[in-house]
Amino acid sequence: MLINVERLKKNIYELAKFSDEGKGIKRLSFTKTYKKGINFVRELMEDAGLTTKVDSVGNLIGRIEGKDKDEPAIIIGSHIDTVPHGGMFDGTVGVLGGIEVIKTLKENRYYNNYPLELISFIDEEGTAPALIGGTFGSRAMMGLIDVDTDLRENLKKVDLLENDVNSAYRDPHTIKNYLELHIEQGRILYDEKIPIGIVTGIVGIWRYVATVRGTSNHAGTTPMYARDDALLKSLPLIKGVNDIAKELDKTLVGTVGKINVKPGAANVIPGEVEVTIELRELEVEIINEAIARIKDIINKIGDIALKQIEAKHPSLMDKNVQLQIERACQSKSIKYKYMPSGAGHDAREMAKKVPSGLIFVPSREGKSHVPEELTELNDIREGVDVLLESIKLLDME
Ligand SMILES: [Zn+2]
Repeated sequence: MLINVERLKKNIYELAKFSDEGKGIKRLSFTKTYKKGINFVRELMEDAGLTTKVDSVGNLIGRIEGKDKDEPAIIIGSHIDTVPHGGMFDGTVGVLGGIEVIKTLKENRYYNNYPLELISFIDEEGTAPALIGGTFGSRAMMGLIDVDTDLRENLKKVDLLENDVNSAYRDPHTIKNYLELHIEQGRILYDEKIPIGIVTGIVGIWRYVATVRGTSNHAGTTPMYARDDALLKSLPLIKGVNDIAKELDKTLVGTVGKINVKPGAANVIPGEVEVTIELRELEVEIINEAIARIKDIINKIGDIALKQIEAKHPSLMDKNVQLQIERACQSKSIKYKYMPSGAGHDAREMAKKVPSGLIFVPSREGKSHVPEELTELNDIREGVDVLLESIKLLDME
């Protein structure tokens, strides 16, 4: 079964025309431009033989019944919303690639066992005109959104009610598998010249604030020997986060991206410094070890309080789905590697409730969320080939 890569390319370039003015692509959820883009995708879905509907929050869903209507569905999904001045491949490769898969199956008179669905999720990027949070559509579908007062107000700005969020919920038992094809948005596949990444999971994110205490005093009159400079004291910690991430594990990343120096004046010795530490990793044990080592450094320095401000747990992809993707690669003689994802995707939310898989294709120079974002056509072709074969393997289970 061969996909039509020229047709897919044409669709990608056609969809890119639905963009607000300015550099790159700007198609923010709930806007007029987004709705036009969704209508374009909906027509393509209908043309591929899918029956379409839009759910209560704005997820576009297409479906083809299988031999048995009561079986759970195999879903291909991603998103077509963008960041402001983003690229034309983030998300769209998954949605339009999914349509190409369905179209190819239809052209080859493939009669699917399970119902097949294609979903274009709304506001994956979290760039809607109101703050409703990223991966909004998939979180709503998996029942992962608690509507509080703030969210209720923000929902109104995009014409949604709390009830719309609740109505978008779907029983995970109606879904056999979720599969997403996405650009890597990093540079590992590009650097290693490997066309396919089989994602093992989406890393968790842990954030801490370390408050380092010193003593503020006049910067002109306090001699160097008599200082207790909080900023200076924080240096081993900042360097330590970087060292620990490099030493401990290949996939662990650690960043100090923000420091707040108090009182923050040229003529005052820093009396207090807040250092924000972020760690991302797939395995909780590695995170625990990293935190233990950070605490060692803190104990050595003294005068530091460490507070956790965020803990987003990793989302693991299903082992069996990973294996089927691997088989798909092998059957097509396409090189692949297993890898974690450092960025969040709709697959992160779906994987919390449904056996899911995520396939990566390379991003040139690792660039994404910028107008220069590019995935070579040949890489897209191989990605869609693997998606097609994986769907067939999952459908035969
Ligand atoms: Zn994306």
